[in-house]
Amino acid sequence: MLKTRFPNPGAMELGDPYRTVVGVVLSARTRDEQVLRLLPGLFAAFPTMEDLSVATVAEIDKRISTIGMYHQKAKHLSQLAKLCVERHGGLVPSTMGELVELPGVGRKTASVVLACCFGTPSIAVDTHVHRVTNRLGWVKTKMPQQTETALLKIVPTKVMRLTNQVFVKLGRYVCLPGKPRCWMCPVQKDCAFKKQNLVAPKDADEVVADIARREDSLEKQRLAVAYGKHRS
Ligand code: SF4
Repeated sequence: MLKTRFPNPGAMELGDPYRTVVGVVLSARTRDEQVLRLLPGLFAAFPTMEDLSVATVAEIDKRISTIGMYHQKAKHLSQLAKLCVERHGGLVPSTMGELVELPGVGRKTASVVLACCFGTPSIAVDTHVHRVTNRLGWVKTKMPQQTETALLKIVPTKVMRLTNQVFVKLGRYVCLPGKPRCWMCPVQKDCAFKKQNLVAPKDADEVVADIARREDSLEKQRLAVAYGKHRS
């Protein structure tokens, strides 16, 4: 049901491990739209992990300075690329243990890469996935990592990849942190949240249309990065 409502892949599913890991590292605490806007320039300048590994931090800085914490992220990307070249032949590693050793890569980023690029059963849990699955009553946890552990026990392997995709979108557009939009929620009847907000606002049609516009625009940006002309 949720996949029908939110059919697009995750915004940082960028077609290969290099692009995906770079995109997810940059998207930490930053809007996907902002990251997708700068990625064509970044990948044009550094089409491969090897290219990124020999770039200076200042050169990376210049390409990503429009987002928050850009200098820290540039340092992480530089170190990450060097490690991938030194230890993994210029490839992104394909195990959780190796991925989380890379600078800027935590379990969430690693899970996105594993699920999207290597087909490894894993569930990336960010604040959206944590909040939504707790409200739904799927888990009862305090921290995202506890949520990940709990979800890995109850979600069937074949839909693990979708879990992050659909709950990030549900959390971003519908199950908002403050007042959720339960009035438009496709899983409202199966939700355990006690304070459901079932009254549609006067501008409900505009809200729904705006979500569709944002998703459409995000997907166009994602496709341009994943399959754009700069692709090597
Ligand atoms: S019904 Fe409300 S609280 Fe439950 S998942 Fe949907 S938006 Fe969130």
